[in-house]
Amino acid sequence: NSMATDPKNLRVKLVLLGDSGVGKSCIVLRFVRGQFDPTSKVTVGASFLSQTLALQNSTTVKFEIWDTAGQERYASLAPLYYRGAAVAVVVYDITSEETFRKAQYWVKELQKHATPGIVMALVGNKADLQENRVVSSQDAMEYAERNGMFFMETSAKTDNNINELFEISILLKETKHR
Ligand code: GDP
Ligand code: MG
Repeated sequence: NSMATDPKNLRVKLVLLGDSGVGKSCIVLRFVRGQFDPTSKVTVGASFLSQTLALQNSTTVKFEIWDTAGQERYASLAPLYYRGAAVAVVVYDITSEETFRKAQYWVKELQKHATPGIVMALVGNKADLQENRVVSSQDAMEYAERNGMFFMETSAKTDNNINELFEISILLKETKHR
């Protein structure tokens, strides 16, 4: 199991999945470094970063974050990253219907092959681009509910709901383990 037994120092493997360009790397960079780089490079294969979060009850959580590449040619590698993960974050871009369809592909893939009990999040990123929105919050929320996921809209650019995403995922993980 990817969650350590000591309740004061948890370790959680988290994987981000989703189409190329939806903002997975920017979400991770915002969470880990507190920065947004609009010229961020395309992820090749996958990249690994870790970040420790202090929770209110004096528990610390070390997130081991696998940020995958969304390109088709790396799809066969994805199981290496989501296997054994405690949390899977499936990201789409609220301004692209195509990325929402891709997100649904990843959800099905996880339902078939991920570790049972995995916490799954559906995340609509680029929420700062409201005027270009094509995926409604309502549709995404209903889809998430039907599939036992929690749903959130984020912006790595304006730092909206980024810490909350990681905090909620760990709270749900802890709840599932009680
Ligand atoms: P990835 O392929 O999913 O890792 O996507 P990236 O993190 O590389 O981001 C792809 C592009 O989307 C970059 O040009 C980012 O600047 C942009 N981007 C990422 N997150 C946001 C966001 O929250 N809002 C806006 N407006 N742009 C974003
Ligand atoms: Mg990337």
